[in-house]
Amino acid sequence: MIAPKPAKTDLLQGCLQASRLGLMDQARDLAHRLIAAAPAAEAPRILDARIRLIWIEFQDGHHATARSVAHTAIAEAAALEDVPRESIARSHYARLLAEDLETSRAADEALTALRLARVSGDALALSIALVVPAIICSRVGLYEAAVELADQAVLESQRSGDTEAIAHSISNYGSLHADYLYRFAIATPEQRREYLDIAITQSRRATQYARGLEDSEMQRLPGYNLVEFLLLAGEKDEAEAVMRETDAAPGRPSRRSEVQRGHVLANLMLARDDRQAAIAALRESLERCVNYPFLELAVFAARNLVDVLAETRDFEAAYEAHRRFDELYCLHVNEDDSRHMQTSILHDRIAEMRLLIAAEEGRASRLLESNAKLAEAAERLARETLEDALTGVGNRRQLDLTLTELAARRGGYAIAILDADHFKQVNDRYSHTTGDAVLRGIAQVVRDALVRSGGGGDSVARLGGEEFAVILANRSDVLAAAVCEDLREAVQRHNWNGVAPGLAVTISIGIASSDEAEDAAGCLALADRRLYEAKRAGRNCIVWAGCAPLAHQHAAQHTGLVPSEAKPGLASPH
Ligand code: GH3
Ligand code: MG
Ligand code: MG
Repeated sequence: MIAPKPAKTDLLQGCLQASRLGLMDQARDLAHRLIAAAPAAEAPRILDARIRLIWIEFQDGHHATARSVAHTAIAEAAALEDVPRESIARSHYARLLAEDLETSRAADEALTALRLARVSGDALALSIALVVPAIICSRVGLYEAAVELADQAVLESQRSGDTEAIAHSISNYGSLHADYLYRFAIATPEQRREYLDIAITQSRRATQYARGLEDSEMQRLPGYNLVEFLLLAGEKDEAEAVMRETDAAPGRPSRRSEVQRGHVLANLMLARDDRQAAIAALRESLERCVNYPFLELAVFAARNLVDVLAETRDFEAAYEAHRRFDELYCLHVNEDDSRHMQTSILHDRIAEMRLLIAAEEGRASRLLESNAKLAEAAERLARETLEDALTGVGNRRQLDLTLTELAARRGGYAIAILDADHFKQVNDRYSHTTGDAVLRGIAQVVRDALVRSGGGGDSVARLGGEEFAVILANRSDVLAAAVCEDLREAVQRHNWNGVAPGLAVTISIGIASSDEAEDAAGCLALADRRLYEAKRAGRNCIVWAGCAPLAHQHAAQHTGLVPSEAKPGLASPH
């Protein structure tokens, strides 16, 4: 008798099973074997293997590979006109983009996935397609929309009867409520308690579903989340118990689960007041997050590490950790900026997503009601897109807008670029929080000084880091220089003791006027060159076209005025 050949379906089942246990190498191998061996007639199965492979590579930290598998899966599903699977593959791809902080592209992709899921009416595809938009909404601060989408995802997953989808959507529903806690500082204590309760209850439910499925990876996600939420709620013993339970899940955690576990473990050590263990756990978590890479968690780990090391009075190590934190923080801020740039586009996508869902549910009347809220959110987003989040002054986009308006009106103006002197030392000597407070302080001092100077058309914007641009409209360059000298002095004179005892802050300024350059960009570049000169001349001074000649550089430093390369020989405006 001939032994029956293992059916191709067994390969797929084997792949699913291995990936549920976190045995990603094995799961990957089985998926590849199925893809290589299956006849064309089994196209849907091949597609299922590819879709699983996207997730396997994602959990294993291979985002580039995951993206490439996703592209293939999307193309294959489109060629087969398999709408539900195309939607699912696109949802996975959107999740990858969101994780890589490419939020705007993620929203585009998620929207396409949602449209396809709607067309197909497939509940599983719909439930998966609703999860990523919920994550995106939460990230841009639209919590109500996020919770609404996550809620829909749970309903659709229940309609589909797919236990894995149910566990996933419930886990997501729970963690979104915790996101709200972390990111939405203005929540009242009652609201915080309510959201934390929901996060805890739903994460617990999700772990129970996952255990029923014997899906360890699906259990670890809400499981480790649950440990973190319980610690937030002050339930240490319960948190310890859930940690043990989650660690005991069969198989081996994927790299992604390990990253998450490391983060939670450090929190647990901190709760136990075991500082040495916490330091070791934080160091390990930090490296793991950097390698994975998971920038947001890395910043968390580095920040906690600085605090714990300082508490143990190991200041040298704390300083080293602080430098690391600084580096990661700035990296993350930059990524953050790039996603902030696109909020207005994002808003359009999100509005359309909500319309799609409303149509599905026949909830047009509820939508009308929520449109007012959406308009409010849109207004806030529009404001945020022109405002620097840290200092409240305009951002780079606001500056460009102002310059465009000025050019259209053909009015003259001066641009001053000001930069905090030795700002890195403020961060290093005091703390990053102090650095942030100094930036806010400088913005405020500059705003006040501009009001004092009485020029109605003046404005200030943060160019990035510790650099600001001031636009002085309709002023001669002599007047502009006088205003800037006042700004420089105001910053130096300001009482910084309130921010940190003994703190002194100065700024250097480069100024250029519109008639010195072809256009706004040229004017900015000239001001920037002069800022550099001011730095070279010893800092805490201004440089403009009409400065004293080079020979007087030393004397000029006392007054805060130093010469520029242009128009040597003109007198300083005193
Ligand atoms: P210089 O006088 O030549 O301008 O020296 P500097 O130290 O001010 O300039 P440098 O460009 O070397 O360092 C700027 C530092 O600004 C680096 C970074 O740590 C810090 N920084 C950038 N953005 C932020 C921020 O948003 N908050 C804080 N606290 N620090 C920031
Ligand atoms: Mg500086
Ligand atoms: Mg700078």
